[in-house]
Amino acid sequence: MQILEKAPAKINLSLDVLYKRPDGFHEVEMVMTTVDLADRIELTLLSEPVIKVESESRFVPNDERNLAYRAAKLLQDRFKVNKGVNIFIEKNIPVAAGLAGGSSDAAAVLRGVNRMWGLGLSDDELAELGAEIGSDVSFCVYGGTALATGRGEQIRFLPAPPPCWVVLSKPTIGVSTQTVYQGLNVSQAEHPDTEAMVRALQEEDYEGICANVGNTLEGVTLKLHEEVGQIKEQMRQAGADAVLMSGSGPTVFSLVEQDARAQRIYNSLKGFCTEVYMVRMLGYRENT
Ligand code: ATP
Repeated sequence: MQILEKAPAKINLSLDVLYKRPDGFHEVEMVMTTVDLADRIELTLLSEPVIKVESESRFVPNDERNLAYRAAKLLQDRFKVNKGVNIFIEKNIPVAAGLAGGSSDAAAVLRGVNRMWGLGLSDDELAELGAEIGSDVSFCVYGGTALATGRGEQIRFLPAPPPCWVVLSKPTIGVSTQTVYQGLNVSQAEHPDTEAMVRALQEEDYEGICANVGNTLEGVTLKLHEEVGQIKEQMRQAGADAVLMSGSGPTVFSLVEQDARAQRIYNSLKGFCTEVYMVRMLGYRENT
């Protein structure tokens, strides 16, 4: 028995960090949306209770450190499953990029293995379990567009953004989310207007969305890696409607309505950066 799952990347249209909680996590407000750049997850049923991970990517661990492995292990242990699974990951999403690739793989495994092992769990139950693996996994179980609060596990669905191009560019550096959070001074950082972003989405107001993109972590990563600022500037000059770093970076994305302009941004970055993608916004929930 084989099951295929698509694991799309997310971008943060806005990301605000409110404060550090007593449990060590940060309280956040994130408006997230999925884009059409996805890993492909191939699950094969194994009759023995073993979990195997395979990937051709040299950036992804093939053992229990892989978030996809941890997702299957969590379901296997929690529901005392005596079957196993082989997880093949076709890695298309850049790793350690701020695009939640690992979280999306984990969410895809939760969805697929739930079906494969006949566990009968709802998406809400999977999202709750996903929060034990990582803060972005709950959102990735659903996909689409949502406001994520708490440490990222409390999800409120939002309408999809109006269709547009998303040009993504990742400089050849990996950024550790932990390092970026350590460098953050919440009281001095810039904070986006989350409410204005939510309103713009509800009103299908593309200009409003573009005017309100913002990321509290951007300032920290910009100081650590000047490439991020250079890409932002290049995208702006090539005519992007909005430019922002996603998550803790270093991927920068631009939103663009016009086809020709999106192509121009893509071309202008292609000579400068190896990882450049021009994709459509997904924005709606594909998995339900
Ligand atoms: P986020 O936006 O949620 O912070 P990210 O895009 O910054 O995520 P990931 O691509 O998820 O980061 O990878 C972060 C780290 O997790 C990597 O260093 C990698 O070794 C590890 N990892 C574990 N499992 C995976 C996976 N399935 N895919 C990618 N990375 C994984």
